Amino acid sequence: MLLGPVTYLLLGKDRGWGAPALGLLDRVLPVYGEVLGLLAGAGAEWVQLDEPALVGGLGEAERAAFARAYAALARAAPGLRLLVATYFEALGPNLETALALPIAALHLDLVRGGGQLDEALAKAPSGLALSLGVVDGRNVWRSDLARALSRLKRAADRLGPERVMVAPSCSLLHVPLDLDLETGLDAELKGWMAFAKQKLAEVATLARGLNEGRGAIAEALGASAEVEARRRDSRRIHDPAVNRRLAALTPEMERRRSPYPERRRAQAPRLGLPPFPTTTIGSFPQTSEVRKARTEFRRGVRDRAAYEAFVKGEIEKTIRFQEEIGLDLLVHGEFERNDMVEYFGELLSGFAFTGQGWVQSYGSRCVKPPIIYGDVSRPGPMTVGWTTFAQSLTRKPVKGMLTGPVTILQWSFVRDDQPRETTCRQIALAIRDEVADLERAGIKAIQIDEPAIREGLPLHKAKWRGYLEWAVVCFRLASSGVRDETQIHTHMCYSEFNDIIDSIARMDADVISIEASRSQMELLDAFTAFKYPNEIGPGVYDIHSPRVPSADEMTALLEKATGRLGPEQIWVNPDCGLKTRGWAEVKAALAAMVEAAKRLRARAPAGA
Ligand code: GLN
Ligand code: ZN
Repeated sequence: MLLGPVTYLLLGKDRGWGAPALGLLDRVLPVYGEVLGLLAGAGAEWVQLDEPALVGGLGEAERAAFARAYAALARAAPGLRLLVATYFEALGPNLETALALPIAALHLDLVRGGGQLDEALAKAPSGLALSLGVVDGRNVWRSDLARALSRLKRAADRLGPERVMVAPSCSLLHVPLDLDLETGLDAELKGWMAFAKQKLAEVATLARGLNEGRGAIAEALGASAEVEARRRDSRRIHDPAVNRRLAALTPEMERRRSPYPERRRAQAPRLGLPPFPTTTIGSFPQTSEVRKARTEFRRGVRDRAAYEAFVKGEIEKTIRFQEEIGLDLLVHGEFERNDMVEYFGELLSGFAFTGQGWVQSYGSRCVKPPIIYGDVSRPGPMTVGWTTFAQSLTRKPVKGMLTGPVTILQWSFVRDDQPRETTCRQIALAIRDEVADLERAGIKAIQIDEPAIREGLPLHKAKWRGYLEWAVVCFRLASSGVRDETQIHTHMCYSEFNDIIDSIARMDADVISIEASRSQMELLDAFTAFKYPNEIGPGVYDIHSPRVPSADEMTALLEKATGRLGPEQIWVNPDCGLKTRGWAEVKAALAAMVEAAKRLRARAPAGA
């Protein structure tokens, strides 16, 4: 298995080689040729080259690069059979390019790109085998075996059985390893699921059905049909109250009552914030002590009362600390949360949790995504107790802290029996209720984090608009139920803003905080052409590093920001939450950050 040469180059960052990435193709191909030769020499018969770039938007030059690259590889390793793998989308306009490559087999993702099968069957040249990805490699549900088998049959009838391979849609990296390890899952739900090991069994079953006929896998087909039917009608999935609410949505529910300038006027006297107000993104250090308390509570070693007393103690310390160093808009610190999605999932209906369902997030970091299996609703308040406790300790405003609907959707396994957009609206309504409860409890500012909005973008640019449309609506549904004087914040952890800045503006949060320090405020480029209308906190402190930035550095970043944004628009905050940092660094860095804000206030016209 190798990453194919063209995708490799297209994913690379231009480091000033003087030529666009593909200009390096002629230098990379001999190295690939050499590796293929070594693999053949070691006895390999097949080599898979992943070329996901083939499902993206390619120009003539890139298509030509594919033809040239594979002609060279075919020459370099004449005895080897090459399989080119594509996934996550249909090949679309690149289908013919892919089918024309001098390779032994081409892999197609029929889960995300089901529509491409017939055209591929019609156009596949006679020497080419197709590997058909019919088992979903990115979700946790069992396959509908009858449906998969009939697609495979269609292919085998057309191409001949020796030219059809059966496969998962993509790498199994994205799903947990083994459902058999789950002891705590509800039996009915578990019956609907398949993790990597179970998915491979499905692939084997389907191949057997293809080779030996339906009769040979009759039992598996019967079981699969039963799961499909039961899941469809299960009372666990369908909650009529949730559907009635969705049907009753009105456009007014997606809009704040007044436009931003009026809201600003209503919020200012209530919050009483200085110019260049300081705040943080929500979490404070999750020390080993905090994690230990949570584990003990979960295991029943610590009772609820003792655990809650512990968390309240942490909240109180954090409020005092923020007051002492002079932050303006405080937070409670998120000590009760294991993870920003898991915490909410556990308190919402329609979610299930695994014990061992770890998947890679990036590098060596793993997450255990919740599984959304049914209609989502909120049985009761999720954060109001902790937030109002924090507010009761101080005269300064405390910001409520929620995870947004798109991020909860994006970082969970999602049911596949209704559009993602519908599930997202259900989550949005649950968050909306939480926002309303926080407001009712006297909380004056509420942050709804949406760090995953950007990564939800579809691969094909043509589909961006549709996605952004509903993603923005979901955020607005969650955030717009409040009165003018309640300030809505949102937070995102990235600075690649330019291509979606208008959608971000349409979210209409009063304040947005974003990552900006590592790129030296690169995001400000987005504001040359586009005037962001509301308030914005470009992060001045890189929380990914233990390094403590100086007040001078942060002042310089803020000065840069005043070049592009009005001083009255700018907030002062770190890039992201502080949960992975230690208290010593956090104390020093936030004190310096407050100092930087004070310097800017001293220079700016008062009351700006
Ligand atoms: N409120 C969350 C925190 O501070 C936001 C985390 C995130 O953006 N990923 O940890
Ligand atoms: Zn963040």
